[in-house]
Amino acid sequence: MTKQTFPNNLLPDNINALAAYSSAKSQKLSGSTWLNANESPYSKTYELSLSDLNRYPDPQPEEVVDAYAKYVQLDKQQVLMTRGADEGIELLVRTYCKSGEDSIALFLPTYGMYKVTADSHNVAINPLTQELLLEGSSEQIVAAVGNSKLVFICNPNNPTGSVTELSKISAIAKALENKAIVVVDEAYIEFCPEQTASSLLQDFENIVVLRTLSKAFALAGLRTGFMLANTALLAPVRKVIAPYPVSRVVAKIAQLALQDDAIAQMRRQVSILNLAKSTLSQWLKDCPAVSKVLDGQGNFVTVQLVSKADIDKAMQSGLIMRPFNLYEQNNWLRISIGNEQELEQVKIWLDALSAQQ
Ligand SMILES: *Cc1c(COP(=O)(O)O)cnc(C)c1O
Repeated sequence: MTKQTFPNNLLPDNINALAAYSSAKSQKLSGSTWLNANESPYSKTYELSLSDLNRYPDPQPEEVVDAYAKYVQLDKQQVLMTRGADEGIELLVRTYCKSGEDSIALFLPTYGMYKVTADSHNVAINPLTQELLLEGSSEQIVAAVGNSKLVFICNPNNPTGSVTELSKISAIAKALENKAIVVVDEAYIEFCPEQTASSLLQDFENIVVLRTLSKAFALAGLRTGFMLANTALLAPVRKVIAPYPVSRVVAKIAQLALQDDAIAQMRRQVSILNLAKSTLSQWLKDCPAVSKVLDGQGNFVTVQLVSKADIDKAMQSGLIMRPFNLYEQNNWLRISIGNEQELEQVKIWLDALSAQQ
């Protein structure tokens, strides 16, 4: 055995081997146009008047939970407020998976935090594919899930934008009743609200829906998400969650963001972003330097370029998008839907690529 030095000799093997999640913000990039983190281009100023900061906050701020329950048409007992959807993912793994024993099923390529969370809790990955999820029958999917404890369905899926039919989600949940929990990550659901699985909670005890204020609600900086599920599923999660996860400051802003007029404003912004997205998709399809455009839902478009060098060119010029590897190819790019000026920068880049062809 090789001698390990501090602190590795103190670390469990799974933590020692951990590859940290490389978020859009973890690299130090310099740029002027930021389309790499699926953030909303709309920012709002909140005026706050805060008192009682000498006191601990409400563990689950009632006004916020009530407002979100109203927004999703569920009962307030079916809503748990978390520090982003990311905390929801972590709470589910910590609550429901036995370390060193259980696995979670993922349909790859998908959101990277599921794997990072599982790795850090020494929970195995059962690596399935988006292709199986979208084209396989529910029987085939359930067979492949085997005895995985949690089945993560990112809907719409980041980074492909693909959408899984509700009938398939319910068929999977039905076949896995009392065996596994189907986790539907709806971070982008406001961009296609009719696809939500929240109504399935009426019929299923083993479905949980994850939501966030980070995308359509334009509050990535707030760190607020929600876990939606029936009371039996949420009860043990409520034991695992930190005692005061949400600061008074965050609760106050979340409450303002969930007022009727703010929700109406969010919906108007979603229509504008969806429209801008179809314009951008068309530009991309018309550009000879782009070999593939994935048509999907969400505030982003994922494309494959003919040449990776064209992506580097954009990044060097300060147009920051999210490059990534997919199917072992390094020329994929996810472009977030920004405002008109930001998308104009993308157009300028695409026009230059077209001219060089
Ligand atoms: C952005 C994103 C999240 C993270 O949401 P937070 O609420 O900011 O933690 C979760 N899931 C998916 C699929 C995302 O794209």
